[in-house]
Amino acid sequence: MSELSQLEDIRKQRAYGKRFSPSLEADFRDTQRRRHRLGRVVTFVIQALCIGGAPWYGSQLFAPQAWLRPWLMLGDSALALLLLVTAFATYRRHDVRQTQIFQATSVIAVAWGALFLRYLSFHGLLDWPPEIISVLILSTVVFGGFSWIRMAVGAIFSFGLASAMELYFNGVNQASALTVFSLSFMGLIAAFAVYVHEMLSRVAWVNLRYADALARTDPLTGLSTRAEFNRVFNSRLAQARRDRRRVAVLLLDIDHFKIVNDSYGHLFGDVVLHDVGKLIRQDFARRPLDLRVRFGGEEVAILWYDIDERLVHVLAERLLESIRALVLVDPTTGKAVPVTASIGLTWLQPRDGITPVAVLKKADELLYQAKRKGRDRVVVQPYYDDIDDTERASSDEAYERELARFGHA
Ligand code: GH3
Ligand code: MG
Ligand code: MG
Repeated sequence: MSELSQLEDIRKQRAYGKRFSPSLEADFRDTQRRRHRLGRVVTFVIQALCIGGAPWYGSQLFAPQAWLRPWLMLGDSALALLLLVTAFATYRRHDVRQTQIFQATSVIAVAWGALFLRYLSFHGLLDWPPEIISVLILSTVVFGGFSWIRMAVGAIFSFGLASAMELYFNGVNQASALTVFSLSFMGLIAAFAVYVHEMLSRVAWVNLRYADALARTDPLTGLSTRAEFNRVFNSRLAQARRDRRRVAVLLLDIDHFKIVNDSYGHLFGDVVLHDVGKLIRQDFARRPLDLRVRFGGEEVAILWYDIDERLVHVLAERLLESIRALVLVDPTTGKAVPVTASIGLTWLQPRDGITPVAVLKKADELLYQAKRKGRDRVVVQPYYDDIDDTERASSDEAYERELARFGHA
């Protein structure tokens, strides 16, 4: 299923809250990571200062007992160090998996640390007020942009435990009731905030992505738009130059399409364009770095990335065969309408000095040759004639493998 139709489904069913497909979900998470990177860094740093500095600035504020001070310093410094390392990894966009582990460890350690200090307070060892617990947890929830389920469960659990401790150690009285009220309400706020925050982000992300996919996709053929092609073609050639890969560039034009339109109507012409587009999308140019684009009215451009030059002719011939074999029936007469196309095709290993426009021009010239020679055919030429045999990277074995992959073994 194409990305566009996946996004359409999500929008239609308003399924923003459900997990998207693995690739969309991964992209969404990646966007969240990037969007919240600085928020996370700042949060972790402030938490590190709050916790790591507590034994110093807190000698009056949190008044720990003398024998506890060194232990508190040790524990707080370790936690602060962990937080700073996490902040640094987040800031430097360190390996995603490892950073996630650091972040999860830090978030859990902060919550447990805050609860543990509160626990010590009940034993009269220091004075660590419940407000600090709220501040630490809420800041992670609001500024972290982490996946909501875990955050909501974590927040409710932490605030629940804090409330339970309050009642257990202080008994039921006016002061503890007030603290429990504020703590449990904070828990609800945190859970609700993290849910709403994620839902809004998901809705915005899907719709932005949808608008982007619409702009990139031609609605009739499902191929890329010319604008998308203009954006990507240059960089794909540049990448091929860097990676030392062969590319083939193909221009296809449906033969006598004006006559098809004039004889059977434009709606029928649209069906032809739709079916040709679908054929190309589904059976040709399917690899991730390939491009397939509606170049003009009834013209299609294809870029095959990393392809053996001995294969391109076979593939182009097969494409023409498949177009001839399309079953296109005129709805008024019930008659099958034959459709053919012509192809101009060139291939090259991009080097310095070769411009994208020149490559397209070459393919266009070859297309005109195909038209002049009587249409319904391919004209192939390498972009330049001076390819050194020693440069030919692909061995015959590799060629056979390619052929097999495209079903020509
Ligand atoms: P040739 O074999 O030389 O390519 O002849 P042709 O008739 O295909 O070429 P020409 O460029 O004269 O005609 C292209 C036609 O494509 C004209 C235009 O009406 C038609 N066309 C362009 N876009 C669309 C479209 O979206 N739908 C339909 N039905 N027709 C379209
Ligand atoms: Mg044309
Ligand atoms: Mg034409």
